[in-house]
Amino acid sequence: MPTYVRTDKCDGCRGQDESACMYICPHDLMLLDKDGSRTGHAMKAFNLEPEQCWECYSCVKICPQQAVECRHYADVVPLGAWVQPLRGTDSIMWTIRFRNGDMKRFKFPIRTTPEGSIQPYANKPDAALSDVGDHATLFTKGTHSCDMSQFAAS
Ligand code: SF4
Ligand code: SF4
Repeated sequence: MPTYVRTDKCDGCRGQDESACMYICPHDLMLLDKDGSRTGHAMKAFNLEPEQCWECYSCVKICPQQAVECRHYADVVPLGAWVQPLRGTDSIMWTIRFRNGDMKRFKFPIRTTPEGSIQPYANKPDAALSDVGDHATLFTKGTHSCDMSQFAAS
């Protein structure tokens, strides 16, 4: 189910050029309505096309104000219950509110290296346009060892 923004919590990422939810959405669905002309709520973000939402939770997890919520499927989170993550630099906290009002929090580590320390392009050759189309030069080549011979027709 798609995400929606709680205008009472969203602070527009304090007027930065690009809000956190805009930055992270892989489908470019989140937009900060700076002047309020789209929604009537200036400096509040909103989901442009809820029916296109992947429900990937990226915007929910990155929002520093916990302003993005997701309409959960009723079989997972029944009406009246609530599930909300809060991501830190090395852990994520999930808050679960049950229908009877009980609250539980679960905190999990999410990484083993300092934030920002990973160099995804380290030891990789520079891209060359002439290599496009050549399967042998795929970026991911060599990152795993899949024995393709097991898929050969017998
Ligand atoms: S919803 Fe959250 S991440 Fe998006 S603009 Fe508002 S405060 Fe920032
Ligand atoms: S849940 Fe994922 S696809 Fe949907 S608005 Fe958030 S970041 Fe975008």
